[in-house]
Amino acid sequence: MEENNLNELDPSFAQPPPERGIFCNRTLNLRSLRAIGYDMDYTLIHYHIHAWEARAYEYVRLSLAGRGWPVQDLVFDPDLAIRGLIVDTRLGNVVKANRFGYIKRAYHGTCPLDFDTQRRTYSRTIIDLNDRRWVVHNTLFSLSRSCIYMQLVDLMDRQALPEVLGYAELYDTVRNTLSQAHMEGKLKGEIVAAPKRFVDLDPDTPAALLDQKEAGKKILLITNSDWAYTRAMMSYSFDRFLPAAMTWRELFDLVIISARKPEFFAGTSPVFEIVTEEGLLQSCPAGIQKSGIFMGGNASLVEEFLHCHGSDILYVGDHIYGDVHQSKNVRRWRTALILRELEAEIRELTEFRKEQAVLSELMGRKDEAEIQLARLRLAQQRAGRIGRSVPGETSAVLAKSIRRRQQEIARLDEEITPLARAAGQLLNPHWGLLMRTGNDKSYLARQVERHADIYSSRVSNFLVQTPFLSFRSHRGSLPHDPLSAQSWDEEESN
Ligand SMILES: [Mg+2]
Repeated sequence: MEENNLNELDPSFAQPPPERGIFCNRTLNLRSLRAIGYDMDYTLIHYHIHAWEARAYEYVRLSLAGRGWPVQDLVFDPDLAIRGLIVDTRLGNVVKANRFGYIKRAYHGTCPLDFDTQRRTYSRTIIDLNDRRWVVHNTLFSLSRSCIYMQLVDLMDRQALPEVLGYAELYDTVRNTLSQAHMEGKLKGEIVAAPKRFVDLDPDTPAALLDQKEAGKKILLITNSDWAYTRAMMSYSFDRFLPAAMTWRELFDLVIISARKPEFFAGTSPVFEIVTEEGLLQSCPAGIQKSGIFMGGNASLVEEFLHCHGSDILYVGDHIYGDVHQSKNVRRWRTALILRELEAEIRELTEFRKEQAVLSELMGRKDEAEIQLARLRLAQQRAGRIGRSVPGETSAVLAKSIRRRQQEIARLDEEITPLARAAGQLLNPHWGLLMRTGNDKSYLARQVERHADIYSSRVSNFLVQTPFLSFRSHRGSLPHDPLSAQSWDEEESN
């Protein structure tokens, strides 16, 4: 068989569209890994975001209505927030920041701050997540929370809420309402009863894990969800796509439920084995001694069981702090982040490519015109230096040139403004792209870069990349790179 005919042998080797790639921040050789661990919710199992978040929103709304709050007219707006936004609980704002933590876009309630107000409020502010003032919304589970918080800030400003609260207490109320155990339990009960409505099946995910298992990797599931929910969801999403007589349980060497991540990575919690279908627990004072299904525990016990060091294990999750930041920081596990919105983001960027080229060309012309204007201004200033006699003619020529450049810049701005506005509304009309703020990387992009060795839109993208591939990090660009090197690098990445 010719090598080129591999696609005919197995269509899964066909080149995937760009949005289904796996992107590399730090070189990672899949072949040398000994174990791959997975989070479940929004990693192995994807939910129809609007269906799930609309239900979660409804639970909070009904709970607040029960407290007498005037929330009967509130409706979940899936466009009001994106992943990676940060709540300023002191001022009741939701903001998007760049990679340095400077705030580039802000909403108070559901209204955008105008340019001057934003500058007055935040020009001297850098986000520091150690300060309880800021809460970052890093998962898809937080979209409903951002939305209802923004809407409630509007009500609070109109003094329509029956309780006197500050913006921070209002945020705590929303957070506590959704995380109340019974609320989460009810929601999960609804999902187990009607998984078709909520779960977005992907037949390639079990296939990708099967490839990895057959390549000799230990496959782990480490989830914060409980046993009943995990069993129902995994069975629904995996069993139908696995070979006959195989269920999801045979796929995994180790299943850990109720893991309490992120504490799982640093903690010393004891582990219990689940010994019956109903979830009966048996203590394991000697740690994890064999494959099976366990509750709680900690990452040290996993490493001991696998006889692995941190760098032998890849952990794949969708939560930048709970899954990826802690596993890397504390255990030095290798990390992969799942960001489903990347698919829409990359599609939008691809569609906008022509306009982006025009925008970049116009910005280049504006930069050049501004340099010329600056030089003319300096020439005028030097010409006017006391004691220096300047021919009137020279002065008039300079003034005329300055006016001409100013007009040129104004004309360019007229062309640039609508294109820049369109670029700022890609993916989301309020917040724009996930990974960028204007020309710069977003705060989220910086976190991804720091904590995730690789990132991708979904686990099934591993199907094409195979368990034997080595990902090499991108050369990256720096502002001082010679132009030719920059374009060479861009070409290489295309
Ligand atoms: Mg998750």
